[in-house]
Amino acid sequence: MRVMTIPTTLRDPAELVAHNLAPAADLTELQAVASRYAVAVTPDLAALIDTSDPADPIARQFIPTRQELSAAPGERADPIGDEAHSPVAGIVHRYPDRVLLKLVHVCAVYCRFCFRREMVGPGKDTALSDAAYRGALDYIRGHPEIWEVILTGGDPLMLSPRRLAQVAADLAGIDHVRIIRIHTRVPVADSSRISDEMVGALKVAGATVWVALHANHARELTESARQACARLIDAGIPMVSQTVLLRGVNDNAAALADLMRAFVECRIKPYYLHHGDLAPGTAHLRTTLAEGQALMRDLRGRLSGLCQPDYVLDIPGGAGKSPVGPNYLARDDSSAGQGEARGEKRYRVVDYCGGVHLYPPRP
Ligand code: SF4
Repeated sequence: MRVMTIPTTLRDPAELVAHNLAPAADLTELQAVASRYAVAVTPDLAALIDTSDPADPIARQFIPTRQELSAAPGERADPIGDEAHSPVAGIVHRYPDRVLLKLVHVCAVYCRFCFRREMVGPGKDTALSDAAYRGALDYIRGHPEIWEVILTGGDPLMLSPRRLAQVAADLAGIDHVRIIRIHTRVPVADSSRISDEMVGALKVAGATVWVALHANHARELTESARQACARLIDAGIPMVSQTVLLRGVNDNAAALADLMRAFVECRIKPYYLHHGDLAPGTAHLRTTLAEGQALMRDLRGRLSGLCQPDYVLDIPGGAGKSPVGPNYLARDDSSAGQGEARGEKRYRVVDYCGGVHLYPPRP
């Protein structure tokens, strides 16, 4: 295994080539990719890449490829329909009890499969203006059904601790906002940002702060990433995980099992396994839904219940997330039993080994 240390974040394909992270022959095409979709590889993540492995699962997530220049049928700039549910700048209100609040459009690293790749990165929209931020707060204040505010982006932990503390205080000052959830990749991408000051900024009176960590391979949970998460959790901030199912990164049961176990060992409850979104130029990184379901079936037999995420699909266009199985329960239409007169049927239940069992209707 050949790994490297780099002093600063790499943002230019020429730098990636110079560090043997991308092929020189592809440089022109990679420059074209980088002019459309942001590139950044932090020292923390570059140190995990095995440059002798052309299929390295960390490189596959962050090193641009020429395949990104080809959009597949069905791919779209706004795959999960944020725009259709954005009543004011910075807010996405898709479900009754929660909103997204998008404060920043930059991230520590740029994932090649990013569902908001048309919106994030330097040169795209910048942070919310003060006026837009106040408008977003007014919107939340005016909707008492909003119980949870999800800070997402871009990566909210790219904000300074001082700014984050102010945002947390502003939100916690709204009576009906009880939960502030922060989606981030920073603990794995740039663990040094999780300083005492940052942790302190996330401790706010009046609301409970949760942190959702985005990681896709167990190797991302290095010792320093684990320590960063432990600093948050030891301060009383609960954590959940989110993972994107990615071809060539984690689309096998062993890789997913290692990752889910690593989360639980770090006191992070596995939450979502996302099916890949229809972001432009990402078809080579998506699996099929059938493959995802087969992997979930495999995990069900292999792993403790603590390690089981929900496999979810964000319905293209903005209709929201749906769990996409697999399903273990079906009505048994062939049955005749005591409950039949009331229209109840037996059920067929599948166990974790694939065995089928009958469950009776209520007598
Ligand atoms: S950290 Fe999140 S928002 Fe940023 S590039 Fe990765 S997937 Fe996109």
